[in-house]
Amino acid sequence: MFDKILIANRGEIARRIARTARRMGIATVAVHSDADAGALHVREADEAVHIGGAASADSYLAIDRVVEAARRTGAQAVHPGYGFLSENPRFAEALEAGGIVFIGPGTRAIAAMGDKIESKKLAAAAGVATVPGAPGALSGEDEAAAAAAAIGYPVMLKASAGGGGKGMRIAHSEAEAREGFRSAVNEARASFGDERVFAEKYIEEPRHIEIQVVADAHGNVVHLGERECSIQRRHQKVVEEAPSPFLDPETRAAMGAQAVALARAVDYRSAGTVEFIVDRDRNFYFLEMNTRLQVEHPVTECVTGLDLVETMIRVAAGEPLPFAQEDVRLEGWAVESRVYAEDPYRGFLPSTGRLVRYREPPAGEGVRVDAGVGEGSEISMFYDPMIAKLVTWGADREQAIDRMAAALDGYRIRGVGHNIDFLSAVMAHPRFREGRLSTGFIAEEFPSGFHGADLGPERVAAMRAVAVAFARARAGRDARIGGRIALPRRSAPDGAGNGFVLRDGEARVRVAAEAADGGCDLALDGVPVAVRGACDPSVGIFEGTVDGRALAVQVDWEGTGHRLRHGGAERFVRVLPERVSALLDLMPVKEPPDMSRFLLSPMPGLLVSVAVAEGDAVEAGQELAVVEAMKMENVMRAERDGVVAKIHAAAGDSLAVDQPIVEFA
Ligand code: ADP
Ligand code: ADP
Ligand code: MG
Repeated sequence: MFDKILIANRGEIARRIARTARRMGIATVAVHSDADAGALHVREADEAVHIGGAASADSYLAIDRVVEAARRTGAQAVHPGYGFLSENPRFAEALEAGGIVFIGPGTRAIAAMGDKIESKKLAAAAGVATVPGAPGALSGEDEAAAAAAAIGYPVMLKASAGGGGKGMRIAHSEAEAREGFRSAVNEARASFGDERVFAEKYIEEPRHIEIQVVADAHGNVVHLGERECSIQRRHQKVVEEAPSPFLDPETRAAMGAQAVALARAVDYRSAGTVEFIVDRDRNFYFLEMNTRLQVEHPVTECVTGLDLVETMIRVAAGEPLPFAQEDVRLEGWAVESRVYAEDPYRGFLPSTGRLVRYREPPAGEGVRVDAGVGEGSEISMFYDPMIAKLVTWGADREQAIDRMAAALDGYRIRGVGHNIDFLSAVMAHPRFREGRLSTGFIAEEFPSGFHGADLGPERVAAMRAVAVAFARARAGRDARIGGRIALPRRSAPDGAGNGFVLRDGEARVRVAAEAADGGCDLALDGVPVAVRGACDPSVGIFEGTVDGRALAVQVDWEGTGHRLRHGGAERFVRVLPERVSALLDLMPVKEPPDMSRFLLSPMPGLLVSVAVAEGDAVEAGQELAVVEAMKMENVMRAERDGVVAKIHAAAGDSLAVDQPIVEFA
């Protein structure tokens, strides 16, 4: 076994690999860029090597520098994690040339599977079901249109070198096939430096279900069951689970057998994932094989009890797999939510900044958090926007989802926009609960974006009760630390001034409250409610019960009220003395400045292009500019028809958040 390995990655996956290495008694070497000098993955490693500038190309993608770091520190092997150099055969070769072990498959398997056209041919030859389509790269628009017509619409045009959901277009007609071909080629050239695009049938109501395989250097190949990853946005996974609620034992066995056959066909070694698209009749078709550890591997670990990183390290050291196919048992259910620094209330735009508050959900049974950050960490524009992966396990699917919903309520992140509310809304969604998934789930269920979950009246009442309990706690604290003496308001002459009013949007609720053991007893419009639990205003989270029902509510103090978040819903609630509330109704409301004439940069980033010029008339939906941040190109579109008065920024500019790009007349 190795004494020391280098981890050629950052963030949560670097920490996760180091955790296993440490448990195995292996010393770890971290590498880092300028931007990550103080990152957790660096601080926790036994040694750390600075390898270059913040841009990935200057550090985490720089093969020479990573290899040199391994050589200098005497690391015997390198784990690449996912992304960056993990599927780069030249990296594996460079390590091998230096006598360093690459913890992953052989270069032949990486190269064969790195190309979608080639891997599809290889899969078909190995007896794996592939998506019907044209066999090779399309020479041009005419051939694309002809191929699409032969396959039958809808059709998917796909970059052969693609990854991360890029370079893919769906076409329902000849015009769309031509347009889709052109844009897929452009995106493929820009993102991968390889413009080959092919066509295949677009599978309708598709589910993404993938098989985890592990193989050793002695010819043993085993599959560890499936993961369903159908909850996607823009072809990128957001929520994954294992097992899939859709598969029966026969389909699982058939998919497993094909995945194993493919792995054998390329002499696979290490952990890998064979991705399939599955139609509504449970026909399944090979999509691609990822020759690395997958982001969503923890759900497989939860249901199999295996540590995939340990398996990879042992296989790389030459050990045989310590289990056979018949030893693999799947137990219970696991769900993973990807917690992203992107704001679902603003069209899922990535968000950057410092995590001024970061508190993970309380560790409980069946809760695992794989995070790359802690309080005070920075989410920068240089890397992908994942903050953490929240994984829950339960005896069955319902329990795993319930635990996920509770854990999300208790996950407190402030300082950057994040998608916790959105994930909560998915967990609460009846269609998700029923397991009726497809890759169109998010687009179909949130067609106009996300504006907060709809909670039933019961949970709204519970949130209001928590608001009152917090208001009381805050008042108590103010009195203790403020040295103020409560004014004799409670004995106001007219006898009416001692009541409190809860204001929640348009709603007005009469409030009465008294202390009770471990909480308070309230009357909301005369209806009794019992709140039990700690309301520490400095913690900002309520964990307790309302009328005996357990719940967590996040509470932020904002001016004269509290902002509450629970179950994917957000409410701003004020509890005020009746007369103050009455006066508040007389206050003028300040109108926010009208910025609707401007296209503002929604985040710090790089202005890639501006698609309009001064004097142009634009239509709603028309592309105005492209801003790149966190590995994503974000296309800014006109919200309504108008005429461009002035362009305020040029392609290549670095933009600050809310910096004007285009001004309309
Ligand atoms: P990437 O390398 O970007 O991960 P994939 O081929 O794995 O590309 O496809 C990513 C996603 O795109 C899939 O999970 C699925 O949602 C969708 N997709 C890909 N091919 C098809 C297809 N033929 N029919 C329907 N959906 C598809
Ligand atoms: P102040 O200290 O500002 O003169 P109080 O101490 O009476 O006023 O209350 C401050 C805030 O605390 C109130 O505006 C209200 O939001 C909350 N509060 C205090 N007591 C109660 C109560 N019995 N029921 C509900 N809310 C209360
Ligand atoms: Mg894929």
